[in-house]
Formats: sequence, C-alpha cells, structure tokens
Amino acid sequence: MVNEVLTLLKNAEDYLSGEEMSKVLGVTRASIWKTINKLKEQGYTIESSTRKGYRIKEVPNIITKSEVLEELHTQLLGREIVYYEEISSTNEEAKQLAREGCQEGLVVIADQQLLGKGRLGRNWSSPAGTGIWMSLVLRPPILPLQASTLTLVAGLSLCEAIEAVTGLEARIKWPNDIVVNGKKVCGILTEMSAELEGIKYVILGIGINVNTPHFPEDLPYASSLYLEGKQQYIRKDILKEFLMRFEKDYFTYLEVPTFQNFIQRYEAKCITLNKKVKILASSQEYVAYAKAITEEGMLKVVTEQGEEKIILAGEVSVRGLYGYVDEEKEKGV
Ligand code: ADP
Repeated sequence: MVNEVLTLLKNAEDYLSGEEMSKVLGVTRASIWKTINKLKEQGYTIESSTRKGYRIKEVPNIITKSEVLEELHTQLLGREIVYYEEISSTNEEAKQLAREGCQEGLVVIADQQLLGKGRLGRNWSSPAGTGIWMSLVLRPPILPLQASTLTLVAGLSLCEAIEAVTGLEARIKWPNDIVVNGKKVCGILTEMSAELEGIKYVILGIGINVNTPHFPEDLPYASSLYLEGKQQYIRKDILKEFLMRFEKDYFTYLEVPTFQNFIQRYEAKCITLNKKVKILASSQEYVAYAKAITEEGMLKVVTEQGEEKIILAGEVSVRGLYGYVDEEKEKGV
C-alpha cells in the first residue's frame, strides 16, 4: 500500500484527497490515512489540508524499496528488493533467501546493520541513515573458481558509479576496496555456495559509506563520500547507478567469464599497481612490487628477492608500505 499511495502522491500535480486515493486504490480512507502516517514515519514531509487532501513536500534521503525502484532501468538486478530498517547482516539475509530459491537479481537493502561483516571474519561498521548496506543475489553459470573475477567486475562498476554520481576521484585498491583520497569508502564481501559442477548462488555484499559524518578511532583508514566531497549525497542515486552499470557489466561478463574485457578499465582505476605493497597473508607478511592484473583477476607481484608471484584475491590483504595505501608511485623493483 505504501508504494501505491506514494506513486499516486508523486504523480499528482497538486493536492490529492484521501477520498480520491481510496477510490483509485479500492481501500478505505482510514487505510489511506494510516499509510500517510507510515510515510511520515519514514521521513516524508507531507502537507495536509482538510479541504484539499495531501501533497508531498519533501522526499527523505532513504533507500527503501519504493525509492530505489523508481526509475531503476534494469532488467534483472534489483527487480526484487527486500528492505529493512535494521538487520543483523544483509549478506546473511540474502543467503537465506537464496537458499529458499529466490530469483537472481534480488537485492537486500538495510538502513542499518547490527552485525555487518567484512572479509576474513572482520566487522563492517554500518550505522543508520548514512550508508548503503546491500547484498545482491546472483546465480551466474560460471565455475566456482571464476567467482573472484565477478567480484572485481562489481568493484569496477561500483567505482565508476561513484565517480559518475559524485564527481569524486574514486579508485580501486586491489581486489575490491573503493578508495577516495587514500581512504576506504566502500567494501565488497562476496560469499558463495557451490558444488563441484557449478555455483548455486553468489552473494555480493556491498557497503558504501555515503554520508557518514565521522568514524570511530579504530577505523583510521575509513572515510565517507560526504567527508571527502564535503557534501551530502542522495543514497538512492548511487545505489541505482551501481545497479544499472553493474547489470551491463554482468551481462558482458557472462558472455566471456574472464576478466580480460575489464583489465584496461580496471587498471585505469587501480591504485595498487606500479608500486611497492605489503602483502599480508595468513602465514607471512612481505613486501613486493605490484606489476599487473591477470586475466583471472589476480595480482602479479615481484618480491624483493626477484621472485614473481601471483596473488589470489580472498587470501590476503594488501596495504601500502606506510599506511592503508600510499599515494606516491614508486618505479621499478
Ligand atoms: P580488507 O580491508 O582487509 O580488504 P574488508 O574489505 O573486509 O577487509 O574490510 C573490513 C575492514 O574494514 C575491517 O577490519 C575494518 O578495519 C574496516 N572497516 C569496518 N567498517 C568500515 C567502514 N564502514 N568503512 C571503512 N572501513 C571499515
């Protein structure tokens, strides 16, 4: 009902009476009144006049199903949306829905995550009203080994979507952290369920710090688009731009599921390349020169001993030598 009333109000040129809406939607006036109150609770500013009815004055900066679906020009991604004001983790919910057989493209969106997850069992801070915390269910007909390239494609689409909407210079820290001015503004956590013969589902969890005003001290490398761009951004614009761009890239990827078609675009955005980086693997830590991205989306590095190594995303974290990322490029090994 919320969606229907909202559509009527948004399309109306002037005030719309409760009676008119109740007639069009075939419900009681009391139920219209209740829905109007629900919308107000969600943050909509609705003017009401006893004689004329209701009129929307201001749409809040929210990422509810009805706001995201409006003018979302996709065929598959986000055609189905499940929205929560508050949830433990969107990835956990998406996994549950995927297990129950939901359709590909379903997106779980939350305004706040209580137990947001990062890679390798880390936490992802997801306060209310500020970011985009979402998980996308995909069912790509690819091999489990290929799933990490899909994550890289998503990171690329996300980086370009952020640039397009905000005008900020967004960059990618391999494999898929999005960084602005050297600080992390988004993270991607991919989880999948697979059998030998193929993937059952992939959950692409995406966290974007959009309007976060500040971060706790234990997150020195975190930032938000607001802090870097010195202005608030409309969350749904970024979310929609990402879904539309990623859908296009996803379809291209499915035609030839390698990273080959994306390397050039990715390298143009990647700040990990052509510099010395610190590789933090579970058993060891070492310094190497990051040389290239392979067709499989892996990072080719040369160690200080001159040994070439291929690093698989998911196994390691890559850092700058002096911090989270290093701004200046270093040449040669
Ligand atoms: P990594 O940086 O090693 O690739 P993740 O991408 O999974 O790991 O991010 C998890 C890490 O990011 C956490 O350990 C924490 O340091 C940091 N972090 C947690 N919440 C946020 C946030 N909202 N924004 C930026 N960084 C965060």
